[in-house]
Amino acid sequence: MQHQTGIFWFRQDLRLSDNSALQMALTQCATVILVYILDSNTRPLGGASRWWLHHSLQSLATDIAARGGTLNVYQGDATLIIKQLVTQHQATAVFWNRCYEPDAITRDKTLKADLSAGNIHVHSTNSALLLEPWQNLKADQTPYTVFTPFWKNLKHQAIATPVSPVSHFPHSPFLATASGIAALRLRPEIPDWAGGLCTTWQVGEQAAWHRLEHFLSNALEGYPDDRNRPDVQGTSRLSPHLHFGEISPRQIWHFLSPQRSGVTVDKFLSEVAWREFSYHLLYHFPTLPATNWRKNFDHFPWQPDAPLLKRWQQGKTGYPIVDAGMRELWYTGWMHNRVRMITASFLTKHLLQPWQDGEAWFWDTLVDADMASNAASWQWVAGCGADAAPYFRIFNPVLQGQKFDPHGDYVRRWLPELADISLTCVHSPWLQGGVAHYPAPMVDHDMARKRALSAFDSIKQSLFSKAAGENKV
Ligand code: FAD
Repeated sequence: MQHQTGIFWFRQDLRLSDNSALQMALTQCATVILVYILDSNTRPLGGASRWWLHHSLQSLATDIAARGGTLNVYQGDATLIIKQLVTQHQATAVFWNRCYEPDAITRDKTLKADLSAGNIHVHSTNSALLLEPWQNLKADQTPYTVFTPFWKNLKHQAIATPVSPVSHFPHSPFLATASGIAALRLRPEIPDWAGGLCTTWQVGEQAAWHRLEHFLSNALEGYPDDRNRPDVQGTSRLSPHLHFGEISPRQIWHFLSPQRSGVTVDKFLSEVAWREFSYHLLYHFPTLPATNWRKNFDHFPWQPDAPLLKRWQQGKTGYPIVDAGMRELWYTGWMHNRVRMITASFLTKHLLQPWQDGEAWFWDTLVDADMASNAASWQWVAGCGADAAPYFRIFNPVLQGQKFDPHGDYVRRWLPELADISLTCVHSPWLQGGVAHYPAPMVDHDMARKRALSAFDSIKQSLFSKAAGENKV
């Protein structure tokens, strides 16, 4: 053994299989102190993420206990807490899997430098991505800003095989200074709005594998078509499990690799690669969560309006597909990808609200809220992101509803007000003279479309005349 005592710090890797840094710690240290810290240095988690985290930590703690170890939980300044633990327990090594959010990178770099200066060994590695953001670069060694070539290059690279699961923790002590998971107060109390989350999700590493297996047996075959249909269970719903690291993309990749030649598997893995692309963008353009990737959008004439934003948040826009999505989000903490695109487009284009307001609402309400995927996707929809949807492609919420929820089942499920409406009017209730308790459209589609296009016209000239290099931060 190289070290008598080491610390393993769990972060967004709440699992015991394919956990590279944890395996390293167990190989190199006689005693491994297992720690989770709710860190005050990074962006505070949203309510739905806190709920998920509570259950994920509980599941992890149970799995650790079953293998003879203890998960020690803290909250506060993670940098200080790690340093204190190192001193108190005479640890000579600290291990973690890398995070890629800008605040986390700053924190980790500083901590690593401080610990190394005191002769403490720090081992950090990748367990969250297929490849490190700096490993998949263009031929000229610059980052990709367009998904298709990023994916083409990624899919031919060797992806590390998952490391073995931990079967036993020989020495992993309980620390008297640690608090319990309940002391983090991650669950909502008064009011307790998490009933829908509880009935929708099973959380934890085992649940992630059940979900993957369920998806492979029931939905993978139809994935290329059904992935766009919010009325059917056509996608994996693995996003929160991936975000909290209950399963790794490497595990998914290698689990599916025997079938990789198929178009269907390729399509699914290419979606997993969108997550990878989002991390690639966040790493190379760290202001992505807050500022426009296309700087010319800094001049876009947004019209911030709190009451409009609230109607969108509450699912009271009068457009059924938008409202169904927003209510699904509130109840379950998740929303179908197609509907995320429709609701985000509606907020930014029909209502001209800044994409950052939508990003913040999703951050608070999604169980899979992820700084990279959320910011990259919002910017993509708003037209100001890397490889973004062309601005002039403004979704018509009625046509989108008719196309992707053709029987109106999704809309009726989330909007009981529309339970009895005819199929012809389910995506446009105003055509039958309106429905009791359901609002009229808050904005006329044709007017909103023209208004958005003219807002875009006001920045278009500068958008196309500036060199792409200006986007770099
Ligand atoms: P599947 O279709 O089964 O895909 C498998 C996995 O691939 C997903 O779990 C996810 O990790 C990844 N993935 C799929 N599509 C995308 C995508 N477009 N971008 C990035 N990764 C993708 N995803 C998040 O994980 N967190 C977010 O905070 C988030 N915010 C979003 C905001 C907006 C406005 C939009 C349009 C999309 C957002 N997404 C986000 C991406 C996508 O909607 C979800 O990843 C997907 O709906 C999750 O469902 P699933 O697991 O069933 O996906």
